[in-house]
Amino acid sequence: MGETIFAKIIRKEIPADIVFENEKVLAFKDIKPQAPVHVLIIPKDTGIPTVSDLSSSKHSELLGAMIDAANQIAKDFGVSEKGFRLVMNCGADAGQEVYHLHMHLFGGRKMNWPPG
Ligand code: 5GP
Repeated sequence: MGETIFAKIIRKEIPADIVFENEKVLAFKDIKPQAPVHVLIIPKDTGIPTVSDLSSSKHSELLGAMIDAANQIAKDFGVSEKGFRLVMNCGADAGQEVYHLHMHLFGGRKMNWPPG
């Protein structure tokens, strides 16, 4: 599978509103926000297209780093107390559009359940 737009964002070749960064993880605002807070949390490793490519033996540290980032971002945006939602779309039926692993963080409004 070819390179995605997220690889260009990681290399800072195209602009993004970056809200968190460390050696493993980058997070930036979604270009089409679906909630007052909508942030994408991605690994800097460009070799993981989707959740199906993850395993605990190889990726437990990365997954921990993504969750740590999510908790930090939720605090920074003031949604930690009221609540927020993390979503990882995996594959076509889930509506995954970008095949670079990512976690959506939604917050700032009441979420519906079940999701659409
Ligand atoms: P998916 O449907 O794959 O789970 O989510 C991909 C998300 O990436 C979508 O919510 C979409 O709006 C967002 N997105 C796609 N291209 C860009 C971009 O160039 N910049 C930013 N900030 N978000 C993007």
